Amino acid sequence: MLPGSVSVVAVSKTRSHEEVLLAYNAGQRVFGENRVQELLTKKKLLPADIRWHLIGHLQSNKVRQVVPEVALIESVDSIKLLKEISDEALKRNLVTDCLLQVHIAAEETKFGFDPAEIEREDWSAVTGAFKGVRVCGLMGMASFTDNSEKVRAEFRMLTALFNETRERCFIDKPFFREISMGMSGDWNIAVEEGSTMIRVGTLIFGERTNKTI
Ligand SMILES: *Cc1c(COP(=O)(O)O)cnc(C)c1O
Repeated sequence: MLPGSVSVVAVSKTRSHEEVLLAYNAGQRVFGENRVQELLTKKKLLPADIRWHLIGHLQSNKVRQVVPEVALIESVDSIKLLKEISDEALKRNLVTDCLLQVHIAAEETKFGFDPAEIEREDWSAVTGAFKGVRVCGLMGMASFTDNSEKVRAEFRMLTALFNETRERCFIDKPFFREISMGMSGDWNIAVEEGSTMIRVGTLIFGERTNKTI
């Protein structure tokens, strides 16, 4: 990746639409939400040229609402979900951009594919069958820890997995180019390890009062 090719997703979960508008007026155009209802509600109140990313777990029963509203679904964590998104997009004559969320952290609770699942799947066959989606890359979250070497190793693993998957399954697909990794606490390590897209909330908007979100 060339320097300067890292994009910033402003994570606006729990923030009011007025706060989002302040960031918009400062020039930010890409915002991330982890809950479908919150995304849809805010979207209605804000300028139409905002590109909304869904970054949280997506339930099947919300796919229909999300597909026409978002620029990128970063949190696809099963092939079943990828198919459901594709089917819904095709019904609407759309192609929905998606990232595959990969479980790279030591913690148990996070959603995502295991790296081994990404490695063994034939993604060219999968995406060839699902014409309503474009798989544009991988997303991951590192462990929540002060141990920066551990975080670095997890990001490095995601970049290696991205490169291997691109060469194996997406070599003729230039849109497979995003590695979404890095948040307020670890974005600099993520960029050093090859991130193309960082998802930053706290550093832009300040501390969230609800720290569990
Ligand atoms: C909340 C969240 C972020 C941003 O977290 P900050 O630490 O506030 O920057 C990034 N990615 C996901 C998936 C999130 O849920």
